[in-house]
Amino acid sequence: MRTTIERRDLGARDVLIEITYAGICHSDIHTVRGDWGAVPYPLTVGHEIVGHVTEVGAEVTRHAVGDRVGVGCMVNSCRECENCRAGQEQYCLPGNVGTYASVDRDGTVTQGGYSTHIVVDQDFVLRVPDAIPHEAVAPLLCAGITTYSPLAHWNAGPGTKVAVVGMGGLGHMAVKIAVAMGAEVTVLSQTLGKKDDGLRFGAEHYHATSDPVTFEALANTFDLIINTVSAPIDVDAYLGLLRLDGTLVNVGAPPEPLPVRVFALFNNRRSFAGSSIGGIAETQQMLDFCAEHGIAPEVEVIGAEAVNDAYERVLSSDVRYRFVIDIDSLR
Ligand code: NAP
Ligand code: ZN
Ligand code: ZN
Repeated sequence: MRTTIERRDLGARDVLIEITYAGICHSDIHTVRGDWGAVPYPLTVGHEIVGHVTEVGAEVTRHAVGDRVGVGCMVNSCRECENCRAGQEQYCLPGNVGTYASVDRDGTVTQGGYSTHIVVDQDFVLRVPDAIPHEAVAPLLCAGITTYSPLAHWNAGPGTKVAVVGMGGLGHMAVKIAVAMGAEVTVLSQTLGKKDDGLRFGAEHYHATSDPVTFEALANTFDLIINTVSAPIDVDAYLGLLRLDGTLVNVGAPPEPLPVRVFALFNNRRSFAGSSIGGIAETQQMLDFCAEHGIAPEVEVIGAEAVNDAYERVLSSDVRYRFVIDIDSLR
């Protein structure tokens, strides 16, 4: 549905962005379907945003009119708590201000990127390196950083074996980034249907999780598993794939609890962890890393009228590998 939303007046430290493309993240779908709780209607979602600066406030120093910029999952944080001071604004203790469905400084509900313009504090606006093709930038602002951050934190690199569970929007970026970091990458997908793509993205191995042999053959193998699945998984089965001191990091966000059998953790001194997007400085690092390594999301560009169909395709794991809305279709 098309509607009109009001953006706040440009403050001294704000940047006005004319949006060109917005990615469709599964989190948008969880949100609008009420998976995570009540929806603060009326709501516009979208937290993978790219566009150009068209106006800057009087005190803006980091961005200039004409710059190509991005906005991800958060648009502010308290900046004072210990996590903010450590550059981990995503873990802001009083809570970061999400790009949509959060309460903004002025008490209004934030509205996301499926829209023509957005006003954002300059500190939460990212510079986009020239090397990244324009229509492929947006998904980096969520899918890119959400996978880059745990891969970097848990030291994916030469000599490490990384498995990526689920090869959708986040999963395909996890594969490309882990490969660029130098890890040996395995994809664990429901079927072998996307095997050629996985190998093209640089994975060395590709297995179907619907085949029980996979869990026997790969027992005690991985240093790091990144789970991107949007639905509950059998955590114990995946923990069994970790070698000594291995970690299963959950970035998928199903609303249901995920039970864990403690003995699956005792064996091999395994860890079960979570990770949420990434800090602003780290997001900039990720954009620069992707530009330097020539990696970008695989996108299918759609008009705004096709969003509902795209949601259905994401829900049936039929995404190759991120839908991106051409915002010109809204103008
Ligand atoms: P997506 O494009 O739909 O990818 C999810 C993939 O998981 C699917 O492509 C599919 O891969 C697999 N999958 C889906 N349903 C499954 C099921 N029932 N059983 C097993 N595998 C299944 O979604 P996304 O945008 O990448 O987001 C993935 C999840 O991450 C969502 O829950 C989202 O909310 C969450 N998320 C978290 C953060 C964070 O900060 N932690 C940030 C962004 C998104 P295969 O076809 O290869 O099996
Ligand atoms: Zn997202
Ligand atoms: Zn804070």
